[in-house]
Amino acid sequence: MFCINCFHTNTKVANSRPNKKQPSIWRRRQCTHCGTIFTTYERPSLADNKPVVLPSGKADTFNLGKLILSISKAFTHAPHEAEYNALWLAQTVEDTLSTEQEIVTPEDIEATTHAVLKRFDELAAIQYAAQHQLIISLKRRGRPSLRERGPRTGELPSR
Ligand SMILES: [Zn+2]
Repeated sequence: MFCINCFHTNTKVANSRPNKKQPSIWRRRQCTHCGTIFTTYERPSLADNKPVVLPSGKADTFNLGKLILSISKAFTHAPHEAEYNALWLAQTVEDTLSTEQEIVTPEDIEATTHAVLKRFDELAAIQYAAQHQLIISLKRRGRPSLRERGPRTGELPSR
Protein backbone atom coordinates (compact mmCIF):
# COMPACT_ATOMS: atom_id res chain seq x y z
CA MET A 1 0.00 0.00 0.00
CA PHE A 2 1.33 3.45 -0.84
CA CYS A 3 1.93 6.15 1.77
CA ILE A 4 -0.94 8.58 2.46
CA ASN A 5 1.56 11.40 3.10
CA CYS A 6 4.25 11.21 0.40
CA PHE A 7 2.72 8.56 -1.92
CA HIS A 8 5.90 6.49 -1.74
CA THR A 9 5.00 3.01 -2.97
CA ASN A 10 6.39 1.11 -0.01
CA THR A 11 4.94 0.88 3.52
CA LYS A 12 5.53 -1.83 6.08
CA VAL A 13 3.17 -3.24 8.69
CA ALA A 14 4.38 -2.12 12.13
CA ASN A 15 1.60 -3.73 14.16
CA SER A 16 -1.62 -5.68 13.53
CA ARG A 17 -4.51 -6.99 15.56
CA PRO A 18 -7.39 -9.23 14.45
CA ASN A 19 -10.84 -8.21 15.73
CA LYS A 20 -12.29 -11.02 17.87
CA LYS A 21 -15.93 -10.23 17.11
CA GLN A 22 -15.82 -9.06 13.50
CA PRO A 23 -14.02 -10.37 10.43
CA SER A 24 -11.49 -7.54 10.31
CA ILE A 25 -7.81 -6.81 10.95
CA TRP A 26 -6.48 -3.52 12.26
CA ARG A 27 -3.01 -2.59 11.01
CA ARG A 28 -0.53 0.18 11.71
CA ARG A 29 1.53 0.88 8.62
CA GLN A 30 4.71 2.90 8.38
CA CYS A 31 6.12 4.53 5.27
CA THR A 32 9.66 3.35 4.56
CA HIS A 33 10.41 6.74 2.94
CA CYS A 34 8.96 9.51 5.19
CA GLY A 35 8.13 7.50 8.31
CA THR A 36 4.43 8.45 8.40
CA ILE A 37 2.37 5.97 10.42
CA PHE A 38 -1.26 5.34 9.50
CA THR A 39 -4.02 2.87 10.35
CA THR A 40 -5.80 0.53 7.95
CA TYR A 41 -8.59 -1.99 8.37
CA GLU A 42 -8.91 -5.10 6.29
CA ARG A 43 -12.45 -6.48 6.09
CA PRO A 44 -14.39 -8.74 3.72
CA SER A 45 -15.80 -6.98 0.70
CA LEU A 46 -19.34 -8.12 0.01
CA ALA A 47 -19.16 -6.57 -3.46
CA ASP A 48 -16.29 -8.89 -4.36
CA ASN A 49 -17.48 -11.99 -2.53
CA LYS A 50 -21.22 -12.31 -3.08
CA PRO A 51 -23.45 -11.10 -5.89
CA VAL A 52 -26.82 -9.63 -4.99
CA VAL A 53 -29.40 -11.83 -6.68
CA LEU A 54 -32.32 -9.73 -7.95
CA PRO A 55 -35.90 -11.09 -8.18
CA SER A 56 -35.38 -11.45 -11.95
CA GLY A 57 -32.50 -13.83 -11.23
CA LYS A 58 -29.98 -11.32 -12.54
CA ALA A 59 -26.89 -10.76 -10.41
CA ASP A 60 -26.03 -7.28 -9.23
CA THR A 61 -23.03 -5.97 -7.29
CA PHE A 62 -23.45 -4.92 -3.66
CA ASN A 63 -23.15 -1.13 -3.44
CA LEU A 64 -22.00 0.21 -0.06
CA GLY A 65 -22.53 3.82 -1.17
CA LYS A 66 -26.17 3.13 -2.01
CA LEU A 67 -26.69 1.52 1.40
CA ILE A 68 -25.09 4.50 3.20
CA LEU A 69 -27.50 6.84 1.39
CA SER A 70 -30.58 4.76 2.19
CA ILE A 71 -29.54 4.54 5.86
CA SER A 72 -29.02 8.32 5.93
CA LYS A 73 -32.57 8.85 4.66
CA ALA A 74 -33.90 7.00 7.72
CA PHE A 75 -32.45 9.73 9.96
CA THR A 76 -34.66 12.66 8.94
CA HIS A 77 -35.36 13.13 12.67
CA ALA A 78 -31.61 13.36 13.44
CA PRO A 79 -29.50 14.28 10.37
CA HIS A 80 -26.42 14.76 12.56
CA GLU A 81 -26.67 11.12 13.65
CA ALA A 82 -26.58 10.06 10.01
CA GLU A 83 -23.40 12.05 9.36
CA TYR A 84 -21.59 10.24 12.15
CA ASN A 85 -23.13 6.80 11.98
CA ALA A 86 -24.38 5.95 8.47
CA LEU A 87 -20.99 4.63 7.32
CA TRP A 88 -20.33 2.21 10.15
CA LEU A 89 -23.98 1.14 10.26
CA ALA A 90 -23.72 0.27 6.56
CA GLN A 91 -20.44 -1.56 7.21
CA THR A 92 -22.12 -3.51 10.01
CA VAL A 93 -24.85 -4.56 7.56
CA GLU A 94 -22.17 -5.54 5.02
CA ASP A 95 -20.22 -7.57 7.61
CA THR A 96 -23.39 -9.34 8.77
CA LEU A 97 -24.34 -10.25 5.21
CA SER A 98 -20.77 -11.38 4.46
CA THR A 99 -20.66 -13.82 7.33
CA GLU A 100 -24.24 -15.01 7.72
CA GLN A 101 -25.80 -15.29 4.29
CA GLU A 102 -25.30 -17.89 1.57
CA ILE A 103 -26.84 -15.78 -1.17
CA VAL A 104 -27.73 -12.12 -0.85
CA THR A 105 -31.03 -10.70 -2.12
CA PRO A 106 -32.33 -7.12 -1.90
CA GLU A 107 -34.76 -8.42 0.78
CA ASP A 108 -31.80 -9.74 2.85
CA ILE A 109 -30.15 -6.33 2.64
CA GLU A 110 -33.36 -4.58 3.74
CA ALA A 111 -34.07 -7.03 6.57
CA THR A 112 -30.49 -6.87 7.88
CA THR A 113 -30.40 -3.07 7.60
CA HIS A 114 -33.67 -2.87 9.51
CA ALA A 115 -32.36 -5.20 12.24
CA VAL A 116 -29.12 -3.20 12.60
CA LEU A 117 -31.02 0.12 12.73
CA LYS A 118 -33.44 -1.29 15.30
CA ARG A 119 -30.56 -2.00 17.69
CA PHE A 120 -29.19 1.51 17.17
CA ASP A 121 -32.20 3.84 16.82
CA GLU A 122 -35.80 2.60 16.92
CA LEU A 123 -37.15 5.68 15.10
CA ALA A 124 -34.64 5.27 12.27
CA ALA A 125 -35.71 1.61 11.96
CA ILE A 126 -39.38 2.64 11.72
CA GLN A 127 -38.60 5.26 9.06
CA TYR A 128 -36.46 2.78 7.12
CA ALA A 129 -39.26 0.19 7.22
CA ALA A 130 -41.77 2.76 5.94
CA GLN A 131 -39.44 3.95 3.17
CA HIS A 132 -38.87 0.36 2.02
CA GLN A 133 -42.44 -0.88 2.58
CA LEU A 134 -41.23 -3.53 5.00
CA ILE A 135 -43.85 -5.46 6.90
CA ILE A 136 -42.73 -5.48 10.49
CA SER A 137 -44.44 -7.41 13.23
CA LEU A 138 -44.85 -5.13 16.21
CA LYS A 139 -44.82 -6.72 19.64
CA ARG A 140 -46.90 -4.97 22.22
CA ARG A 141 -44.95 -4.29 25.36
CA GLY A 142 -46.18 -5.88 28.57
CA ARG A 143 -48.99 -7.73 26.82
CA PRO A 144 -47.83 -11.21 25.91
CA SER A 145 -49.93 -12.99 23.34
CA LEU A 146 -51.91 -16.09 24.27
CA ARG A 147 -49.35 -18.29 22.56
CA GLU A 148 -46.52 -16.80 24.62
CA ARG A 149 -48.45 -17.54 27.83
CA GLY A 150 -48.41 -21.26 27.09
CA PRO A 151 -51.21 -23.81 27.33
CA ARG A 152 -54.02 -23.05 29.71
CA THR A 153 -54.23 -25.42 32.65
CA GLY A 154 -57.48 -24.18 34.11
CA GLU A 155 -55.80 -23.80 37.50
CA LEU A 156 -55.89 -20.62 39.48
CA PRO A 157 -52.49 -19.14 40.32
CA SER A 158 -51.29 -20.20 43.77
CA ARG A 159 -50.69 -17.50 46.38
ZN1 LIG B 1 5.66 8.53 3.11
